[in-house]
Amino acid sequence: MSRSDVTIVGGGAAGLSAALGLAQAGLSVHLLGAPTTIRDDGRSAALFQTSLDFLAGLGIGPALQDKAAALRAIRIVDLTGGLVRAPTTTFRALEIGQEAFGWNIANADILAVMMEAARQTPGLTLSDAQFRSFTAAGNGVILEREDGSRHESRLLIGADGQNSRTREAAGIAFRTKDYPQTALTCRLRHPGDHEDISTEFHTREGPFTFVPSGDGISALVWIMRPDKAESMLALPRERLAERITRQSSSFLGPVEIISAIGAVPMRKRVADRLVSGRVALIGEAAHAFPPIGAQGLNLGLKDVESLVRRVIAAHREGADLAAALPLYAQDRKLDMDMRSTGVDLMNSALIADFLPLDITRALALTALKQIAPLRQLAMRIGSWTPPFGQRRSA
Ligand SMILES: Cc1cc2nc3c(=O)[nH]c(=O)nc-3n(C[C@H](O)[C@H](O)[C@H](O)COP(=O)(O)OP(=O)(O)OC[C@H]3O[C@@H](n4cnc5c(N)ncnc54)[C@H](O)[C@@H]3O)c2cc1C
Repeated sequence: MSRSDVTIVGGGAAGLSAALGLAQAGLSVHLLGAPTTIRDDGRSAALFQTSLDFLAGLGIGPALQDKAAALRAIRIVDLTGGLVRAPTTTFRALEIGQEAFGWNIANADILAVMMEAARQTPGLTLSDAQFRSFTAAGNGVILEREDGSRHESRLLIGADGQNSRTREAAGIAFRTKDYPQTALTCRLRHPGDHEDISTEFHTREGPFTFVPSGDGISALVWIMRPDKAESMLALPRERLAERITRQSSSFLGPVEIISAIGAVPMRKRVADRLVSGRVALIGEAAHAFPPIGAQGLNLGLKDVESLVRRVIAAHREGADLAAALPLYAQDRKLDMDMRSTGVDLMNSALIADFLPLDITRALALTALKQIAPLRQLAMRIGSWTPPFGQRRSA
């Protein structure tokens, strides 16, 4: 039977970055579910500077920076059609002394850069086999792949996304909530200049967002009712492009769709525990929720940073690697619960047709527009910059 210090299930961004971090520290790592081909599904992720700093520490900073588009400002436009309309508010990164709130990178580029680094990392073996189950065995676990073959390791990390089989096999329960929303995603070319501003139109069905993705190119995330998403998907691409142009009031001119079109049902799935025995969950296996405030992968990378740091410390002390897991859970549980509750509240407040909530949102945005210190604090919390300290350098 093959053996490694750690097995990671899932070759998404969370699993691959954890594999790089652990293998670079000298642990033997086996990764299951590595992608054989990387499909550009038109989706992208806005990564905060803290996330890019962490990825730079894995040696993939320059390769990612080459593919990244700066998000220097975020503009929020109220299209909820409520009786009380919030003012259009623009948050500029310069106001909190940052060059940009974050950097938008196509998911396919993130995975390609990580896979390239993973292939060149000694001690890291990549397999496209799927994980089926595991059993505890002494100071380790024996896991079984879909083809029936087995592998032994001291730790098992579930990075297998929101329908995590690892989470299920470890008996970790999760809270789930389905929203009446589907996110339509694609990349668009347009004649207008986005000026590195991410523009979020808040509609009663959810945000309709243009995120800068290069010169004259934006990534679209259009959250809408599932039945409407189905009818949009049935349209020829040119007609859908016309609908997008109309919905955006043509603020960047007529758009052209230049990627595959994705449709993702919106749901929250949050694990009750991050750790069970020798198993730890990271990324969307631990927490999945709608893409509001770019909390998804950024939060996943915070999990990875903490888990990798804790496991490396146990390895260097010659301790049982499992000793690292409760410390990891302690580091991450509160932040994960707070961020997922925050996203749920923001999303629910947006889609609720309820006057007091409209008034609260309008008042909050008016206050943020007019009171600079309040706006700066909100920006720092949103992008994880310490409110009263220096941000880490790139
Ligand atoms: C529309 C949209 C926009 C978003 N925008 C942002 C953003 O701007 N910023 C941000 O930070 N986040 C964003 N997110 C969230 C972000 O995309 C996710 O958090 C992130 O991609 C999750 O990565 P992951 O590695 O945890 O999971 P996944 O990407 O789901 O990877 C899981 C992997 O596990 C594999 N797997 C599953 N089961 C098995 C098995 N049994 N055996 C082996 N392998 C298995 C899968 O094939 C997959 O490769 C967005 C999400 C959406 C839907």
